[in-house]
Amino acid sequence: MPRPSNRLAYLHRQYRDATASVRERTRRHVATTWTSLPDYKDNSVEHFANRSSRLVAVGAITTGTLTAAFIESVVRERTGRATRATIDTARLTSLRKNIDPVEVYMRPGRQVWWELSKGVDYLTAVDRGLTRALTLTSTDLQLAKIDAGSQAIQAQPEIVAYERVTGPTPCELCQEAAGTLYKSDELMELHDNCSCDLVPVFGEPQFTDATDYGSAPTTENDELGRVLATLP
Ligand SMILES: [Zn+2]
Repeated sequence: MPRPSNRLAYLHRQYRDATASVRERTRRHVATTWTSLPDYKDNSVEHFANRSSRLVAVGAITTGTLTAAFIESVVRERTGRATRATIDTARLTSLRKNIDPVEVYMRPGRQVWWELSKGVDYLTAVDRGLTRALTLTSTDLQLAKIDAGSQAIQAQPEIVAYERVTGPTPCELCQEAAGTLYKSDELMELHDNCSCDLVPVFGEPQFTDATDYGSAPTTENDELGRVLATLP
């Protein structure tokens, strides 16, 4: 058993590893689906979109459930009690605004068509389609994490704020934004491939580098909502 003072960090590490493994597994399944297509014509691309959107939906619900359980365990650790947060997991499978998930996963196939029309060679075009598919996957799982985290945090009156804590391999944007504190009813911004976590804050932050409420530079995206802006 870890010492009590390390307990929150321990719970966070466990949670981070669990969600990272869901992400890796989902990405692997999506990649396998992509590379085992016989070709990248209409039927294959539709098959990919149907199957991938289902795979990602499963990953999104698992990520959301893990997130709600993490928030609850942190509150219980801190206060000795916690309200069981019943989060709406159905909504986690379709969080992009104004677009159907199957339509989202048609994009990698369309990217291949577009690349080929520009004279890009076949293997490179297929590889770029895969990169697109994996970015969509990671970003959709992150949307689910943030939405579920926000639902769970708002169900716990003890939580006044939460902190952005970076995931396993943070990009420069996330490292810069790490430590930002958000009010409990505020949605943390993301960006493509983001894996940052929402870590509850009670009286004072438990993790270092806390700055102040929502200071990260952001911009509005039609589909994803508020996203982290590119740093100068
Ligand atoms: Zn991030």
